[in-house]
Amino acid sequence: MLKDKIRALGQQNKSETIGIRRHLHAHPELSFQEFETVAFVEEKLRSFGIDKIEKKANTGLVALIEGKNPGNKTVALRGDMDALPIIEQNEVSYKSTKPGIMHACGHDVHTASLLGAAKILHEIRDGFEGTVKLIFQPGEELIPGGASLMIKDKALENPKPSGIIGQHVMPLIPVGKVGFRKGMYMASADELYITVKGKGGHGAMPETLIDPVLIASHMIVALQQVISRNASPKIPSVLSFGRVEALGATNIIPNEVKIQGTFRTLNEEWRAKAHQHMVQIAKGIAEGMGGEVDFEVRKGYPFLKNAEELTTRAQDAAVDYLGQENVVDLDIWMAAEDFSYYTQEIDGCFYRLGTRNEAKGIISGVHTPTFDIDEEALEIGAGLMAYIAVNELRYE
Ligand SMILES: [Zn+2]
Ligand SMILES: [Zn+2]
Repeated sequence: MLKDKIRALGQQNKSETIGIRRHLHAHPELSFQEFETVAFVEEKLRSFGIDKIEKKANTGLVALIEGKNPGNKTVALRGDMDALPIIEQNEVSYKSTKPGIMHACGHDVHTASLLGAAKILHEIRDGFEGTVKLIFQPGEELIPGGASLMIKDKALENPKPSGIIGQHVMPLIPVGKVGFRKGMYMASADELYITVKGKGGHGAMPETLIDPVLIASHMIVALQQVISRNASPKIPSVLSFGRVEALGATNIIPNEVKIQGTFRTLNEEWRAKAHQHMVQIAKGIAEGMGGEVDFEVRKGYPFLKNAEELTTRAQDAAVDYLGQENVVDLDIWMAAEDFSYYTQEIDGCFYRLGTRNEAKGIISGVHTPTFDIDEEALEIGAGLMAYIAVNELRYE
């Protein structure tokens, strides 16, 4: 049976997959600078015997593994490769060798798992029909998102996959388990940059000034009505302001105040409307109080929706591969992921790979200097990806 074969190969390749992950972890590269990483990925693929490789989006690549009747159906597997500007604090043999750069979001794990899956799939290619497309992408962590550039560079064409599968480490889930969610899963995330302009001067003479601090204060309060009154209670939305800058003093009113925040939601139509509401409210308040406002919405990634049928089949495959007790249901997560760009083009399933091990002290969250994984997760990450792909190719 294919499942047993995949599992056996996963076990057999385990130390190699761990070695790959450690190499990547020790040699992290920032978003859109993954030159060594993509060269390493290409070299590994060629060493496995995979040679249908095409460079994409400068530091990304696409590779094909063809089974019998490769024209039948194509399913895509995605791994992201970039690291973060964080100084690693883990004292491990594979600690980052690049000061200030660290694989703190597990993208080393995703790349290593996808390479592990590739090796398995290439070995069993006579046992499935259709084609598996591997997508190694740059720049997940940075707008405009490597996924959008890969799509622009035709990563989803020739052949066009019917669906795409992505996995991401999850330090909240114990190693050995994976998590799935059908439908709405992750949020769109937009950055808000607001500049309130008034007329500064001596704090003792407010009647001669236009106070941008007071205008900004009203604005922050009033903008929450977008969430409490304009948003449908059925659509999750978040509006948070984390930076307010008024550089006056006890007796000095500044000329302007800068505010920065984030807006997140799970519906593209509402997202566009909310942007309009926010700008309108801010303008109304500024004008009503005699000031002016510059309101910039820097659009981030769209929201992420997992396709019902594809996700059901992938989850069933995971139950089959790992057992029901090791497959958990996920809640909505208001973080953003550029995998969502793929899901705007084709069916997608983004699932989570458990990496937590409290007994070993592996509990830190992603994007922290002490993030690490229980490497037992790599065998599952590689094997399950391969199994989900061959399982998916069985369906029309
Ligand atoms: Zn991240
Ligand atoms: Zn990530």
